[in-house]
Amino acid sequence: MSWRSRCLQLVAISALLAISAGALWQFRLLSSALLVLAVPFTLWAIGLYVYMRFGPGKYNLDELRELVLEGQYDDSDLPDVDPEGDLFCPCCQSVYNVKFGVCPTCATRQTRKK
Ligand SMILES: [Zn+2]
Repeated sequence: MSWRSRCLQLVAISALLAISAGALWQFRLLSSALLVLAVPFTLWAIGLYVYMRFGPGKYNLDELRELVLEGQYDDSDLPDVDPEGDLFCPCCQSVYNVKFGVCPTCATRQTRKK
């Protein structure tokens, strides 16, 4: 289940609890209990949304920047690239030779170092 679906599920649960509390308003104690129960689900949904939307995320560029600045990042582990070889265009998914400089199909500029 994606985090968006989980968020919607939590919002639905808290809305259902709030609606039930409204419907059972004559039973004050039960109604209040349902409302109190709806609060953590609402906070959970808000927290999950804020964390997933604005949180550090799976690929944290700040962490990578720190590794580079501290000299802990070593790109010699990366596989060698053939300077005369072919490139894969992530935009239109065609393969073209590195000498073109830009993708001949969609004109996306290559980002690889020469
Ligand atoms: Zn392309």
